[in-house]
Amino acid sequence: MSYAAPEIIAAKRDGATLDDGAITWMLESYTRREVAEEQMSALLMAIFFRGLTGDELRTWTARMIESGERLDLSGLSRPTVDKHSTGGVGDKISLILVPLVAAGGAAVPQLSGRGLGHTGGTLDKLESIPGWRANLTNEEIIDQLESIGAVVCAAGAGLAPIDKRLYALRDVTGTVESIPLISSSIMSKKIAEGTASLVLDVKVGHGAFIKDLDRARLLAETMVALGHDHGVATVAQLSNMNAPLGRCVGNALEVRETLDVLAGAGPADVRELTLALARIMVDLAGLDVDPAAKLDDGSALSTYRAMIRAQGGDPDAPLAVGVQHESLLATRAGVVQSVDALAVGVSAWRLGAGRARKEDPVSAGAGVEVLVREGEHVEVGQPLFEMHADDVAHVDSAREVLAGALRIGDEGVTPAPLLLERVG
Ligand code: URA
Repeated sequence: MSYAAPEIIAAKRDGATLDDGAITWMLESYTRREVAEEQMSALLMAIFFRGLTGDELRTWTARMIESGERLDLSGLSRPTVDKHSTGGVGDKISLILVPLVAAGGAAVPQLSGRGLGHTGGTLDKLESIPGWRANLTNEEIIDQLESIGAVVCAAGAGLAPIDKRLYALRDVTGTVESIPLISSSIMSKKIAEGTASLVLDVKVGHGAFIKDLDRARLLAETMVALGHDHGVATVAQLSNMNAPLGRCVGNALEVRETLDVLAGAGPADVRELTLALARIMVDLAGLDVDPAAKLDDGSALSTYRAMIRAQGGDPDAPLAVGVQHESLLATRAGVVQSVDALAVGVSAWRLGAGRARKEDPVSAGAGVEVLVREGEHVEVGQPLFEMHADDVAHVDSAREVLAGALRIGDEGVTPAPLLLERVG
């Protein structure tokens, strides 16, 4: 059978179902640079509007996985289980969850990316620890998984390499927000990583890139089905991302909060979500352990320290703090009606915690501390947020956004539940 890109593009544009051969030909030809970027852009836009059937998506994802290597973790003596979050503000859950689940006896191969935009990246957070190294060889990953059980490192260029090109193209062609394209992008990397099971934390709300529950449920169902198709036991937990998670948003600030939670303290919402995901993970891994006990008896903290040390970091080194600090004060008394995660994320980003382009550096010490929660009573002049930055100009630009991040009113407020539905 011979194929031509214009015909495949037109078929999808007109709502036809593409056969396995057409999808395989298109992705393989694109990898060999025989299909032009503008042709792939047109196909992505056709997929954006027409979607992919279950069979098309299965083939598309399989070809993405086959565009690179697949880690073989089958020789490990521990069961493998990983977690992926679709990205939220103040989301430091992986930093706690990976050592926690490893302390319960699993191997957690968290191969991660860097943050772009208003949600921070796990690697950026850990890089605020002096000496910590994100790049490991496959051999180092496997050794550390066997000895400690916990690895958080950069996903090497070899895992689903076609995703990097497709993602860059989607980013500039308005085709990021497509459920099949998001699902195949996330799941191709997780399946190639070699984990036997996976929990997905699908964020819903103002601070997430999926704002409504129906779309989040569809994304979760699509990813869970793809995991099952590829033999990865997958469960998704939907969680609320209208308000930031915890009190700290920013790289070193979030490491500090991680240490609080690992010490058995820290904000209740961070602990609640971490434990909910950990329970799903130990279950998927077939382990009979109570994650709360592993958090409270210090074993998760010791695994965290071993994981940081194994990657060159000093878990006892002082963490960076921005040199500029400013509090934002309440201008009226009342009850906090809402704290807008998106506005907090954008202000942390403006303070220097995030990057606009993937080559930009991030500031370790910059970020926002959220000092009050939804439903809390505040007085005039009470500090609501504390901003930290390296540069005073950043504080000026963050203040504008942060000023609108919190609504104070007279009504009593019952905070919305953090844990929403489970899929799978
Ligand atoms: N994260 C990814 O890795 N890919 C997407 O398409 C969206 C979020």
